Amino acid sequence: AGLGVQPEESKKDILLGGLLLPGFDEGSCASRYQSVYYRNNMTRSPTPYLIARLRRQEALQRRCGPGTEPYTRATERLKSGQKNVDTVDGCSYLVLVSYRGLGNRILATVSAFLYAVLTDRVLLVDRMETFGDLFCEPFPGATWLLPLDFPLEGYKDLWESAAESYENVTLHNNTGPASEHRFVYIHLDHLATQANRLVYCDDHRQFLHRVQWVFLRTDGYIAPSFFLNPAYREELERMFPRKDSVFYVLSRYLLHPTNDVWGMVTRFYDSYLKNADERLGIQIRVFDEDKPHKYILDQILACTSQEHLLPESIAMSAGAAPPLRPTAGARVRTKAVLTTGLSGWYGDSIREMYWLSTSATGELVSVHQPSHEEHQSMFRVRHDMKALAEMYLLSMTDKIVTSGWSTFGYVGTALGGLTPYIMMRPENRTVPDPPCKRAMSMEPCGQVPAFFECTRKEYDIIIDNAKMVPHVRACEDMPWGLKLT
Ligand code: GDP
Repeated sequence: AGLGVQPEESKKDILLGGLLLPGFDEGSCASRYQSVYYRNNMTRSPTPYLIARLRRQEALQRRCGPGTEPYTRATERLKSGQKNVDTVDGCSYLVLVSYRGLGNRILATVSAFLYAVLTDRVLLVDRMETFGDLFCEPFPGATWLLPLDFPLEGYKDLWESAAESYENVTLHNNTGPASEHRFVYIHLDHLATQANRLVYCDDHRQFLHRVQWVFLRTDGYIAPSFFLNPAYREELERMFPRKDSVFYVLSRYLLHPTNDVWGMVTRFYDSYLKNADERLGIQIRVFDEDKPHKYILDQILACTSQEHLLPESIAMSAGAAPPLRPTAGARVRTKAVLTTGLSGWYGDSIREMYWLSTSATGELVSVHQPSHEEHQSMFRVRHDMKALAEMYLLSMTDKIVTSGWSTFGYVGTALGGLTPYIMMRPENRTVPDPPCKRAMSMEPCGQVPAFFECTRKEYDIIIDNAKMVPHVRACEDMPWGLKLT
């Protein structure tokens, strides 16, 4: 395999059942072909149909992406506002503007990719300052980064009130045939109006299909709501006969951390996690304030105790002799706990617990936390690189406890194909009962769902979609969110 791996490991399927293409330069993006050596074998295989669709998308990105003549013509048309052009060249585009924390942006990116595939559009992602430093190019011979000289000024500031918003062009204005629109703007922020969410039900063949440029702004995982649209149902069914692993399979195809991030991941993993008999991830996201809270620590410990994820710690009576270990031949079981969070206090407290006391099972519990940034910040490369490295490290554990509502946790979980124990969001600063719940699936929660039936499009009548379509259910941690199972 050329990666300095052990002979027994050289049989690993580095192309992940055909998800990845051979022939990328290994040196410029080591994670693409190396990650298989760090992760559990894939528990869901891509279907031949999905693989064929990915190859088709790659060809589209190459034929129409930045640097090609169709792209130059399309951007000139966008700039000049020339009307009535239909999508000549057979090239249409989806520009993603994602925002908020890194977890939000990653969920948005994977869902936008699925939407681009479903609607035959070239995906171009706005860099949001750091994106190019975090991820390698996924498509061979094409870039997915929106060029810095992109000619539409102000596209980053588009918001719900824009004249080009889906709500405005489809419901309020009689703005003419779709092909006359310079572009349409899809607004799927978590506070988006129901009318803007109607885009989930757009029958692409009728309207958006003829708009060459679509701008999408979202901060979340919107994929579950695509499953509500009858126009996509057959296609999605063929791509994903199993609905519980859409993010997992797509992320393995699409997301490859850059060498700098991958170096952080592998150095930490090799140093602290690799040799343990078992790895437990605990992702701690506190939405209250950044300072440590005792009730959160209590919740973590109540969860790990309830689910038997960590051994009880037994206080030694003063002066008691500790056991002699390891005696020759008898290996002591080791459990490595990876904690992530903005504060270091929770991990420190758990580590101290197993230092001052002994574990009831005799296991040796070690606790490791890569960083404690104290505060969330945006657009700082080093800060985002740490966050991404930690999501990957979480994905490499065997079992995982996450904080409800957190997209950071959703990504760590789904990247790893892990079914998490989700800690419910505490109210009134008390430990919820139960402190955590085993999730239904590894999928992230879609926090910006549609609340109406696509066949009726009555967006002012709120219905519970969690019961309408098989495999689309209410999220464990956010009952109005939708999750694939
Ligand atoms: P969410 O707010 O929990 O949904 O997750 P996001 O990832 O979207 O936003 C939180 C942001 O705060 C992250 O992107 C990081 O910038 C920072 N952050 C939160 N938790 C952690 C953590 O455990 N480790 C690191 N390095 N950063 C974190």
